[in-house]
Amino acid sequence: MKTNVLVIGGGVGGLTVALKLARCGIGVTLVEQMKGSPHLYKGELVQPKTLQIFDSIGLLPPVLENGHIINEIDLVERRDLSDASEEVPSQSMSYNILPKPYHHALMIPHETLKSILLEEAEKYPSFKYIQPGRFMEFENGLAKVKLSEEEVLIEADYYVSAEGRKSKVRDFMQLRQKEKKYDHHFLTVTFPRPKSLTEGKIISNHHTFLGLFPLPNNLVRSVYMIPKGSYKTMIEEGLESFYEKYLELCPALDGYVQKIDSWKQIQLMIPVHYHVSSYVKDNIVLLGDAAHSVHPMAGEGMNLAIQDGDVLGELFCWMYEHNRHSSELLSLYEEVRRPRVHHILKLSHLSALAYSRPLRSLVTWRRKVMDQLTNDPVLHIKHMLNISGLGMWKETIIDRAIQTGVVPIRKEEVDYHLEKRHLFTSRDDYPWRYMEEEVKR
Ligand SMILES: Cc1cc2nc3c(=O)[nH]c(=O)nc-3n(C[C@H](O)[C@H](O)[C@H](O)COP(=O)(O)OP(=O)(O)OC[C@H]3O[C@@H](n4cnc5c(N)ncnc54)[C@H](O)[C@@H]3O)c2cc1C
Repeated sequence: MKTNVLVIGGGVGGLTVALKLARCGIGVTLVEQMKGSPHLYKGELVQPKTLQIFDSIGLLPPVLENGHIINEIDLVERRDLSDASEEVPSQSMSYNILPKPYHHALMIPHETLKSILLEEAEKYPSFKYIQPGRFMEFENGLAKVKLSEEEVLIEADYYVSAEGRKSKVRDFMQLRQKEKKYDHHFLTVTFPRPKSLTEGKIISNHHTFLGLFPLPNNLVRSVYMIPKGSYKTMIEEGLESFYEKYLELCPALDGYVQKIDSWKQIQLMIPVHYHVSSYVKDNIVLLGDAAHSVHPMAGEGMNLAIQDGDVLGELFCWMYEHNRHSSELLSLYEEVRRPRVHHILKLSHLSALAYSRPLRSLVTWRRKVMDQLTNDPVLHIKHMLNISGLGMWKETIIDRAIQTGVVPIRKEEVDYHLEKRHLFTSRDDYPWRYMEEEVKR
C-alpha cells in the first residue's frame, strides 16, 4: 500500500494534520488502533488560537454549536474548611481582554471535536481512514500496520507519529526525553451542573483544588487534585466521601455531584511533563503528545496537538505544491512550534508547582501571586495571551518582581495594550511561504 503521508494515530493532532493534507489534495492515510471511540476523558478546553485555526478551515460554526463559551476562569481560595461559606474574593482570569474575535475559550466534549474533524476529512477523496489499524514497527523503511485480520506494509513519503504519550515511533527514533512526574494526581469526572455555573472556576484550599469547567447540555467537567498514590484509598472510602470532598470546596454542587453513581465514571489522570529533543528525523515527524506532554493545569495539551497539526499540515501542503522535499524543510515545523511549546510547558509547570505543595504558607504566597497576576494589567494580558496561543509576550524580571509582590502593581493608566508584534502573524506561523521574499530582499 502506498500513500504520500501516513499519519499514525487518530487523536485531535493526527486528525488535524490529516484534514489539512486532505484539503490540499495530498494522499493521506490515517491509521487508528482503537475500534470505536474510547470512553476516556481527554482535553476539552479549546484555547483562542485553536478557535482561530478552526475558523481558517471553516469548522468554527460546528465547533461553536457543540461547545460552551468560556469568558473567564474565576479563582477562589477557601481559607477555612470549617466555614465553607467563607470565600476570599475571587480573582478572574479573563479571556475577554484579548483582541476580538478570538477573545474567549470553549469547552467541547473531546469525542465530539474528533468527530467534527473526521467528518470533515472524510469529505476529501485523498483522505483514507483505517480503523482499526495499529502501527507495529518499521520494516525496511515501510510501516507495518496490523489490521483486524492481517498485517500490511505501508510505504509513504513521510510518516507522522501522532500516537500520543506512548508513541512507538518515538521509541524507534531513539530520542532523548526527560520525564518529570508530580507529587499529585487528578480525578476527573463530568456530571450535571447548577445553571448558574457558566464560567470556569478553580477553587482551592491549602491542600487541594477543584477545577470546574462548564460543558454544553448543563454538564460540568471537574478536575480534583489528590496526593499521588491515594486513589485506591479514596475508592475504598466510597462515593459519599468523594461527594463530601467536592462539597467542602463547592457547596453549590449539592444535589449535582451526587448524580455520579459509580467509580467507573471517575477517571484517574496522571500528569507528566516531557519534551523530546527533536521532532524530526529524516522523513519521520512527531506531533502532539508524542512530542511533548504538558501538565493539565492550563488546559493546553489538546491545543498544542491541534496547533502542531496546523503548522505541519501547512508546511506539507507547501512542500508538495512547490515540489520541494527535504528533512531541513520539514524542520521548519519544529522551528515554529518548539519555542511556543517550550513556553507553554514552562507556564503550566510553574502553575502546577504553585498548586501542588500542601503548605499553608504557600497558599498565602499563591494568593498574592494570583492577585498580582489578575490585577496588574500587563501581567494579566501577558498571561492570557500566552495561554491563548495567539501570541507570545514573555515575562520580564520586573514582571516577576511584581508577581511575587516585591514591586507594586502597575497603575491602570499605564499603556499596556497589546501590540501587533506580540501576536503571531501568518509569517510567524508559516515562515516558508515568505522565504523567497526574504532572499530577494
Ligand atoms: C484525562 C485527561 C484529561 C485531559 N484534559 C485536558 C484538557 O482539559 N485540555 C487539554 O488541552 N488537554 C487535556 N489533556 C491532554 C490532551 O488530551 C492531549 O494532550 C491530547 O489529546 C493530545 O492529542 P494527540 O492527538 O497528540 O494524542 P492522543 O489524543 O493521545 O491521540 C493518540 C491516538 O493515537 C492512537 N494510537 C496510539 N498508538 C497507536 C498505534 N501504534 N497505531 C495506531 N494508533 C495509535 C491512540 O489510540 C489515540 O487515538 C488531557 C488528557 C487526559 C488523559
